[in-house]
Amino acid sequence: MARAAVPGRLSWLVSTLSGSRDETASARTLVLDVPGWPGHQAGQHVDVKLTAEDGYSAQRSYSIASAPDGTRLELTVQRIADGEVSPYLTEVLEPGDPLELRGPIGGWFVWPPGSAAPLLLVAGGSGIVPLMSMIRAHAVNKSQVPVRLIYSVRSPADALYASELSERSRESPLEVTFLYTRAAPAGVPTGRINAEIIKAAAWPPAANPAIFICGPTGFVETTAGLLVAAGHDPAVIKTERFGPTS
Ligand SMILES: Cc1cc2nc3c(=O)[nH]c(=O)nc-3n(C[C@H](O)[C@H](O)[C@H](O)COP(=O)(O)OP(=O)(O)OC[C@H]3O[C@@H](n4cnc5c(N)ncnc54)[C@H](O)[C@@H]3O)c2cc1C
Repeated sequence: MARAAVPGRLSWLVSTLSGSRDETASARTLVLDVPGWPGHQAGQHVDVKLTAEDGYSAQRSYSIASAPDGTRLELTVQRIADGEVSPYLTEVLEPGDPLELRGPIGGWFVWPPGSAAPLLLVAGGSGIVPLMSMIRAHAVNKSQVPVRLIYSVRSPADALYASELSERSRESPLEVTFLYTRAAPAGVPTGRINAEIIKAAAWPPAANPAIFICGPTGFVETTAGLLVAAGHDPAVIKTERFGPTS
């Protein structure tokens, strides 16, 4: 995957947690102030580094959830129960604490707000995070490009940004289709993404949409394959994989 920014050439910056909020029972948004932040594009991510007193350090990547906004960044972290880094970020880090990060990283998986193509966003789980940055940038820029979001979650309680998505879909040209893989609201079936859902909820190939897919590796590969089978040009499908093969 192409990368415009090379991590080795980026310096580590010391940010400060200025606030945080729960998005679900297991996901938390961190609001960071990052002096010296050079700005970002919707879709990019940062590397976060934790360093223990004995010098041991661990790094992980986190997508930027917020639209470009000066030196302020929001990250949304899904807690992995036996994880090394995500439990610290979601349960231990407190307002005022420092957090080392570098970025922005990624020049391929980005949405330029001036784009005229209809937008198709497909998210699995926390893969919604960089797509939310695109939706927020779309709003900030008052873009009139129509957006369709297909968002697969285990259950309604696992959906990140649910109320904001609902509000934005009333106020802007955003249509959201939720898929529930394990538990759904009454009367709604559960199921995984498939060709029928793509046909009903995605733009048709003739609309020439810009397409972004993000989530666990298996979800991303399945969805990209369904879109290609539906007639979309593989060259316009941009993907970002978050976790281990599912
Ligand atoms: C470009 C990029 C952007 C990312 N953006 C985000 C983001 O915005 N929000 C976010 O929450 N995560 C994001 N991730 C995932 C993140 O980098 C970490 O992998 C995740 O937080 C787990 O780290 P950990 O140290 O807690 O777990 P680890 O100690 O690395 O792993 C613990 C266990 O959990 C499994 N595991 C690791 N990652 C995942 C996962 N994503 N899903 C399910 N199981 C997993 C491992 O196989 C292992 O068994 C992103 C990853 C990439 C590559």
